[in-house]
Amino acid sequence: MVKAIVGANWGDEGKGKITDTLAKESDIIVRFQGGANAGHTIVNNYGKFALHTLPSGVFYDHTTSVIGNGVALDIPKLVGELEEVVSKGVPRPKILVSDRAQIVMPYHILFDTYEEARLAGKSFGSTKSGIAPFYSDKYAKIGFQVSELFDEVALKEKLERVLVQKNVLIEHLYHQPLLNADELFNTLMEYRKMIEPYVCDTSAYLYQAIQEGKNILLEGQLGSLKDPDHGIYPMVTSSSTLAGYGAIGAGIPPYEIKKVITVCKAYSSAVGAGAFVSEIFGEEADELRKRGGDGGEYGATTGRPRRMGWFDCVASRYGCRIQGTTDVAFTVLDVLGYLDEIPVCTGYEIDGRITDDFPTTTQLEKAKPVLEVLPGWKTDIRGIRRYEELPENCRNYIEFVEKQLGFPITIISNGPGRDDVIYR
Ligand code: GDP
Repeated sequence: MVKAIVGANWGDEGKGKITDTLAKESDIIVRFQGGANAGHTIVNNYGKFALHTLPSGVFYDHTTSVIGNGVALDIPKLVGELEEVVSKGVPRPKILVSDRAQIVMPYHILFDTYEEARLAGKSFGSTKSGIAPFYSDKYAKIGFQVSELFDEVALKEKLERVLVQKNVLIEHLYHQPLLNADELFNTLMEYRKMIEPYVCDTSAYLYQAIQEGKNILLEGQLGSLKDPDHGIYPMVTSSSTLAGYGAIGAGIPPYEIKKVITVCKAYSSAVGAGAFVSEIFGEEADELRKRGGDGGEYGATTGRPRRMGWFDCVASRYGCRIQGTTDVAFTVLDVLGYLDEIPVCTGYEIDGRITDDFPTTTQLEKAKPVLEVLPGWKTDIRGIRRYEELPENCRNYIEFVEKQLGFPITIISNGPGRDDVIYR
């Protein structure tokens, strides 16, 4: 059976922790989109890890991790992460990399950096991992698949052709040092050596695994609102963050995805620019940021402070719907235990009218939050394993959110650890 684990919001919902928890009963974990631009933070008996490219399942020795064709593959980063994990005592993970995955080229990272500098104050807040230039090239059909590393003659010829175009921009738009095809070719040969042991036809592997009834998890990066089609365009990422794309980015039949577990955090956080209706500021935000997640809400890749807000039912209901949610995992609930009262955003006021439909970006910029205030529970709920043992106000909060979402909350996460979870 194939399950997808995806985010309902702006990312950082705790998908890594949920994947890590569910990986216990899984055979294969697949990354199907995105690159090293976001990260999952995972706490387990080996320590605390920030993974950017490796799937969250690498900590179990019974699982195989797959980097699907939809991923922006940063080869040195992947191999570096692998070495780091092993050096901290984790058994060497079994990794397979799609021969159709495309490679993040060193110039993608350069272009990301140059463009952010050129846009200055108007930038997208990119993590400068090369993701937007990478996907631009992929769809402009000048990207490089892993398989191309193994045909040296064709690779050299294509590199020279592509660099003509890149160098025009570098010279005339960015005024930076030109790229050299021979140098780049040598770098790619290094990449080939690093990645060769892992390369295969992962789509065929997964097809076989599905026939054998294996349990497969598709692990999404970021969340619904960062999807290029259905998110807060243009403040989105460059690959689809939706479970539906899991079929494409992993190369499996769409009807094999039987469960879509959408992860929602009990409050909101976002990185980068873009409308964020339920955002809070000042001391209120600082307090939540400091207490949030595991050791504060700071970016796993960049370390920058995340923007904070109350739970947004409008955005989350939409985020769950667009994912095709079968189950909601409601995470980081323990963090709210310090609050006397917990505001929740239940509607948007746009031009004097109240709506609970999530609008397109131009309307969204004008939206003001309509808040409802629920009583807090003022206790530490970590360590609780049964739903009935949660304080009444805490259960009321969960049930209020569930009703607003219109999708069942079947998993509750009340701590960063693998076992801090309540099934319902
Ligand atoms: P992801 O990208 O969706 O996997 O999310 P992140 O890893 O950026 O953010 C989740 C953060 O919250 C990590 O630091 C996790 O260790 C932590 N976390 C996950 N679930 C819980 C939870 O239920 N409670 C607490 N306190 N922290 C959690």
